[in-house]
Amino acid sequence: MKLHWKIIIGMVAGVVFGLLMSQTSFGSEFIKDWIKPFGTIFINLLKLIAMPLILASLIKGISDLKDISKLSTIGTRTLGVYICTTVLAVIVGLVLVNIVQPGNSIKEETRIDLVQEYEQGVLEKQQQAQKQSESGPLQPLVDVVPSNIFDATTNNRNMLQVIFFAIFFGIGMILIPPKQAKPVKDFFDGFNSIILKLIDLIMLSAPYGVFALLATLVVESPSIDLFIALGMYSLTLIIGLGIMIVVYMIIVKFVTNTNPISFMNGVSAAQLLGFSTSSSAATLPVTMDCVEKNLGVDKEISSFVLPIGATINMDGTSVYQAVAAVFIAQAFGLDLSLGAQLGIIVTASLASIGAAAVPSAGIVMLVIVLGQAGIPEAGLALIIAVDRPLDMCRTIVNVTGDAAVSMVVAKSVGKLKDPKDVNKN
Ligand code: ASP
Repeated sequence: MKLHWKIIIGMVAGVVFGLLMSQTSFGSEFIKDWIKPFGTIFINLLKLIAMPLILASLIKGISDLKDISKLSTIGTRTLGVYICTTVLAVIVGLVLVNIVQPGNSIKEETRIDLVQEYEQGVLEKQQQAQKQSESGPLQPLVDVVPSNIFDATTNNRNMLQVIFFAIFFGIGMILIPPKQAKPVKDFFDGFNSIILKLIDLIMLSAPYGVFALLATLVVESPSIDLFIALGMYSLTLIIGLGIMIVVYMIIVKFVTNTNPISFMNGVSAAQLLGFSTSSSAATLPVTMDCVEKNLGVDKEISSFVLPIGATINMDGTSVYQAVAAVFIAQAFGLDLSLGAQLGIIVTASLASIGAAAVPSAGIVMLVIVLGQAGIPEAGLALIIAVDRPLDMCRTIVNVTGDAAVSMVVAKSVGKLKDPKDVNKN
């Protein structure tokens, strides 16, 4: 049976089991004590492999290039396409939220109740956001350059720093005589193969991991009434995310001549895992596996484009920033001027680039977007309760966007296999 089917079965079984068990308090406790840890172990395993994977695959990928000009071509194209899809995603969100106007459907009492109930959660997010926004305009650039690589690799949030080091190291390898670079290159080639094998092993447990994650989620999720009150908001966001998926399907069709259905099938295991883990960083190993094996992207490209994409290209998060910011403004009866909305395009794009590829990163960055647009930050309380399921959905889009862009970049430099030659497994 194909992996994505096994994962789907795990997910469905997890939801059903969670629903059954949540009927009694014993059942809920049982899931928290005996099932949840397995979900955590699964996510930890994926995260564990992310840093070594980035190091090994990027150093290997770049040293394979043999030529710095090739690297700068790939780099410029990757960043260019990422920025375009991000801005497009914010615009999709803005247009949609202005058409549907979900904020006007929320009742005054519901708004007051929610603001009171989730005050504490808002405070926490504000504090986290404050740390991020206190710095000067060039701080994000400074943050990319680590002062100690061993220190940088000890925290998964420092992925951009490790990417920087790996690229820098790879460039050094290209610039020295090939004979001298050979032992190091052989080491990283072997290291990379081992990591890929480990990913295969971890993926054997994926169906069980997602079972545990979803069963826990069902038990811990807020009441269904909340979802109904926030139905229009959630729906608007989900439509926006759906539009982005269609955009990717059109892009891969026209740019790479790949059948959109084959594209979706090829990337499905990564999408399901993105949904279950809510983290594009944790999903990265599987995204790489999918685009290489199922979509025909050369390792040289995927090992460069995907780790960068996982950290800076979050189109789902971009749609979300736009929809959520304007929704909150509408719910508070604020009329945002065109200037304020254009400002949202800039801040939401930057916020999604700056967001870490971990669960709930988007809502922390949203605080900054709200602050810049003059929208009350207390409005976060309106959406915080339903944020997790929506985070799961936006992570699917984040992962799919990275995969689509890797195909586009690969095609542009002749490193994409012809769709007919791709081994569909
Ligand atoms: N969870 C998302 C991701 O990892 C980020 C977000 O919160 O929007 O891709």
